[in-house]
Amino acid sequence: MSDPIPESTLPYPPVYKDKRFVVLTDWDGTITTQDSNDYMTDTLGYGKDKRRAGNLSVLEGRRTFRDAFREMLESIVANGHSFEECKEVLRKNIKLDSGFKDFNSWCKANDIPVVIVSSGMAPSIRAVLSNLDDEEAANAIDIIANDVEIHPDGKWNIKFRHPSSGYGHDKSRAILPYKDLESPPLLFFFGDGVSDMSAARHADILFVKQKDDGENDLAAYCNREGIKHIIFHHFSEALGVVQSVVSGEKTPEEVLAIGKA
Ligand SMILES: [Mg+2]
Repeated sequence: MSDPIPESTLPYPPVYKDKRFVVLTDWDGTITTQDSNDYMTDTLGYGKDKRRAGNLSVLEGRRTFRDAFREMLESIVANGHSFEECKEVLRKNIKLDSGFKDFNSWCKANDIPVVIVSSGMAPSIRAVLSNLDDEEAANAIDIIANDVEIHPDGKWNIKFRHPSSGYGHDKSRAILPYKDLESPPLLFFFGDGVSDMSAARHADILFVKQKDDGENDLAAYCNREGIKHIIFHHFSEALGVVQSVVSGEKTPEEVLAIGKA
């Protein structure tokens, strides 16, 4: 079922062995309202048409996500944009889900770690997270993603966490260590897309974000595979469900049976 374990070029944050609950969440399109790397490619790189052609080639299995994604980012570098400039453009233009700040604050106050698991690059995620306007809460969030290498001439490239994986970052590696624990925390996972499929089936309670355009690759995958999940539109809705489970008012089975936030 799963691919061989890819070697990681980047460290992992600690596995939270002693917590009762852990939140793992995708970044692009889940915490953010729009994909930050698509946005950069469309505005600073080779544009939307070529980017969409690249997306299609991945969906059709002609290329790996890793190679198409690297090419998208290379087009931004080829146009002369520094990584600092990219971070600034993202910080100004990428919006966060309106409920995420309160969701994150509540988790922090209730000793529930929040871990971002992303196919993007950690430094650009940190830049956008600064928009939470709560430095302490933003810094408390772990990020498991790829990194970036910046060269003396100002050029830069993505440094993949799992260069041997066709995904560049195999997200299931962030969640599987929890499954080996003697008494694992209950895992909430939030996602929206193709890159979340490998991790989705290992969550105890899976939340799938419903996008405004109606497209939902992760929901389609879960329906096909019979993976129970909860559809949500905003983190403010999801918070109520998380609270009902954390308080013991509802069981995971009960909230999954309802299927929406
Ligand atoms: Mg996503």
